[in-house]
Amino acid sequence: MQEKNRLPFRIGFGIDFHQLVSGRDFWIGGIKLEHTKGALGHSDADVLLHAICDAMLGAACLGDIGFHFPDSDNSFKDIDSKILLKRSNELIQKAGYQIGNIDSTVSLELPKLKPHIPAMQKVIAEILSLEEDQVSIKATTSEKMGFVGREEGVAAYATVLLTIS
Ligand SMILES: [Zn+2]
Repeated sequence: MQEKNRLPFRIGFGIDFHQLVSGRDFWIGGIKLEHTKGALGHSDADVLLHAICDAMLGAACLGDIGFHFPDSDNSFKDIDSKILLKRSNELIQKAGYQIGNIDSTVSLELPKLKPHIPAMQKVIAEILSLEEDQVSIKATTSEKMGFVGREEGVAAYATVLLTIS
């Protein structure tokens, strides 16, 4: 592609889902929620951090979280997803990018996420060396419809804008 067609920023999108089961801790946005169920996965199954990692990697055209941190690799078993977020940031920095801002939405029936959002913003901003207002997190239910509505699972969606560093 000719240089003149390249903008000094790139956008990425990430999406992730996890099943909710009893007997698992519920990590989301880098914090642990008190709940009767937790997200099932090879890592700590932090759906929001995974969606953000995928959006970051996607914006830099670096593949996805499963490519860089495969669940066939036992070193990632039960890994803290904050480590995956930090490593994803290192990958995009190595490719010459830095994060402009993140916008995300978590779809979850229970528990209510709103009171926990400032703590999540703080954790994510710290890991990525951003200001908290560069990390938007929103929460929605699915109005009791579908797998989120039946409290069988949780979904997260994220968009990330990268700028050339
Ligand atoms: Zn995930």
